[in-house]
Amino acid sequence: MSEFDLIRRYFTRPTPGTLLGVGDDAALLQPSAGKVLAVSSDMLVSGTHFFADADPYLLGHKTLAVNLSDLAAMGAVPRWATLAIALPAADEAWLAKFSAGFFALAEAYGVELIGGDTTRGPLNFCVTIFGEVSAAQALRRSGAQAGDEIWVSGELGNAALALAHLQSRLDLSEDEFAACATALYQPQPRVALGLALAGIASSAIDVSDGLLADLGHILDASRLGAEIEFAALPISAVLRARLTPPSLPLSGEELGIPPDKGGLRAARCAGTQGQELGIPPDKGGLRGVELLQRCVLAGGDDYELCFTVPMSRHDEVLRISKQLALPLTRIGRIVAGHGCTVRDAAGNPINPEGRGYDHFR
Ligand code: ADP
Ligand code: MG
Repeated sequence: MSEFDLIRRYFTRPTPGTLLGVGDDAALLQPSAGKVLAVSSDMLVSGTHFFADADPYLLGHKTLAVNLSDLAAMGAVPRWATLAIALPAADEAWLAKFSAGFFALAEAYGVELIGGDTTRGPLNFCVTIFGEVSAAQALRRSGAQAGDEIWVSGELGNAALALAHLQSRLDLSEDEFAACATALYQPQPRVALGLALAGIASSAIDVSDGLLADLGHILDASRLGAEIEFAALPISAVLRARLTPPSLPLSGEELGIPPDKGGLRAARCAGTQGQELGIPPDKGGLRGVELLQRCVLAGGDDYELCFTVPMSRHDEVLRISKQLALPLTRIGRIVAGHGCTVRDAAGNPINPEGRGYDHFR
């Protein structure tokens, strides 16, 4: 199969929303009147972002999903994408699945693939996505104000838990792994949330490198600090269940979330800090407290949105949560100063393990 047959067969679909799509030296795009383009690129590299033997359908999904997530964080409507792909060989069965996963998500969000590049080389993908937003409503990192509430969508820690399991740092049951693996392999970009927040949120970012790292970008850009209540964080249900073994005595204070809603009490929390989760520390296993902090505060790849809103718009966020049937949780507030302080239920600062993923640290 020639390079051009490959492009025609696997990466060419109708593009009715485009003046000129795949097949020329460049595509021609016409943004809607009054809108500006929001443009973002994300690269997925074999061995860094995924395992070489990963399911191609899910890879196709994820390659586009991480880009959609960036547009969600800007409050932009996704419209077009380009795909640059390096392949070790033209494996048609693999390409058919990759392309099916990519286009299934593209069609779900009305995104047209309008061009790209195809070469032989070590497996990697780079998508550039183009969306539309009105300039005044784009959700920038720099817009947070002191006093704003900090919110996060969905649950935190699932993708990192699944990864820790794959790296033999804890031992999840089949059901637990299945519950977390969707977050790792098939993240759902929060596009509808981003659009609903345009004009309401003062800033937003998608959580791709870990909550603290990504919230840190909002704080740097806005030149402010944050106070986070650890007990308020929407911890992965799998992790929550793991850290509340029924054998431990129940006593002490509730930590913000009532136990019947899955909240941890002090004694249980304390009792699980040093708990081993199937794999002993000298074999690289993580203990309870490390897991909590690493997965929830520093765990990457969740692709939830973290955003700030003025206190006066609290109820609007609750309404959006209901409308979208998506849990949204207030986790803290923006304060003067700089840096992020995470506090336990007693108000004492926690010094978390690890601060998120950084390719060069
Ligand atoms: P050029 O040599 O002019 O850069 P190419 O031969 O690389 O053009 O690509 C031919 C056409 O196919 C171009 O329109 C390009 O955008 C498109 N294309 C190449 N690879 C892909 C891909 N993986 N997905 C979608 N379109 C692609
Ligand atoms: Mg080219």
